[in-house]
Amino acid sequence: MSEKPRPHARTRLVHAGTRRSGWGEMSEALFLTQGFAYPDAESAERRFAGEEDGFIYARFGNPTVTMFEERMAALEGAEDAFATASGMAAVQAALMAELAAGGRVVAARALFGSTRHILGQILPRYGVTVDLVDGADTAAWEAALSRPADIVLFESMANPTLELVDIDAVVPLAKAAGARVIVDNVFATPLHLRPLEHGADLVIYSATKHVDGHGRVLGGVILGARELIRGPIETWMRHTGAAISPFNAWLLLKSLESFVLRVEAATASAEAAARRLSGHPALLRCLYPTLPDFPQAGLAGRLLSGGGTMLTLDVKGGREAAFRFLNSLEIFTISNNLGDAKSIATHPASTTHRRLPPEEKDRLGITEGMVRLSFGLEDAEDLIADLEAGLAALG
Ligand SMILES: *Cc1c(COP(=O)(O)O)cnc(C)c1O
Repeated sequence: MSEKPRPHARTRLVHAGTRRSGWGEMSEALFLTQGFAYPDAESAERRFAGEEDGFIYARFGNPTVTMFEERMAALEGAEDAFATASGMAAVQAALMAELAAGGRVVAARALFGSTRHILGQILPRYGVTVDLVDGADTAAWEAALSRPADIVLFESMANPTLELVDIDAVVPLAKAAGARVIVDNVFATPLHLRPLEHGADLVIYSATKHVDGHGRVLGGVILGARELIRGPIETWMRHTGAAISPFNAWLLLKSLESFVLRVEAATASAEAAARRLSGHPALLRCLYPTLPDFPQAGLAGRLLSGGGTMLTLDVKGGREAAFRFLNSLEIFTISNNLGDAKSIATHPASTTHRRLPPEEKDRLGITEGMVRLSFGLEDAEDLIADLEAGLAALG
């Protein structure tokens, strides 16, 4: 008898995690319940003692949330997953679950603003040392990890420069330093990079982005080995309360059914736009990981199976030109989310990254002319025409 091959991602994302109730519903049910009834007192006692499977309280378990977690784990190829109220709740729990005073975190300096706040402002208050390195500089990682560390944290593809961290170089250095590796993989998406396959211990997502994919709800997820997820992560989440709402988990669960189709389509549009706009006279740079002139083109070719849904343009003429370009766009909406069905344009220097001092912006390569584009599900030709008209208006 021939063995059936393991189902592909698109198949897994339609079916994985489904738990039908006695009604036999086709569409996964939304279990909008905080608590669960026990058949008898002995059963309640056994569940609290961990001797019987079953739900107890929605802060740490709910059937709809479990379906979402299992489907996310199937997408990532992870043993287990824990869903959280937002992406930041996932970042926070992954960091805090095992850290203690005297601990040390080594992180890439190009980080989501709130993650940087946790590392820069909050953790030091609790006696944790944080060292930031330039993520693309392997020698800097090597120097920082020549001393013991507890956690290594980085975004696999940085916002907004799309700069990559060489995960295959950093993981062995982290392991040698005794650190767990946590990767925020939002920009690369699980379609194009799966950090666990490269030796990372935990992967985190803001499910607010491509997983929801329609700009509706906040959510997050932490993925990794079962002993970590059902050990320190679950313990932290159970007692600290950043639980995802079952309603949000239900939306995210159903969105996963179209995840591959959506991210593939948006990636194809971003890549087509990058190829068309590369070398445009109004641009200083057109940053997209699969372009031949991407600063880390070799690394991108080795790590990524696709360039992702984000494209960053650096227009000539600084902030004034960038604002004129943004204001001329008719299909791209000026906003700061990403991974939405609607295409979005952002000026990082004046919004998401405005708090960074000028020298830090320079260090991260964030310029006044930079415009970050998140590609949605509109027709690629319409999106490219919108961008070309905006650039033409710059003269
Ligand atoms: C959005 C985002 C977060 C935070 O997620 P929320 O769902 O907004 O809390 C963390 N990391 C990255 C890379 C993000 O893009």
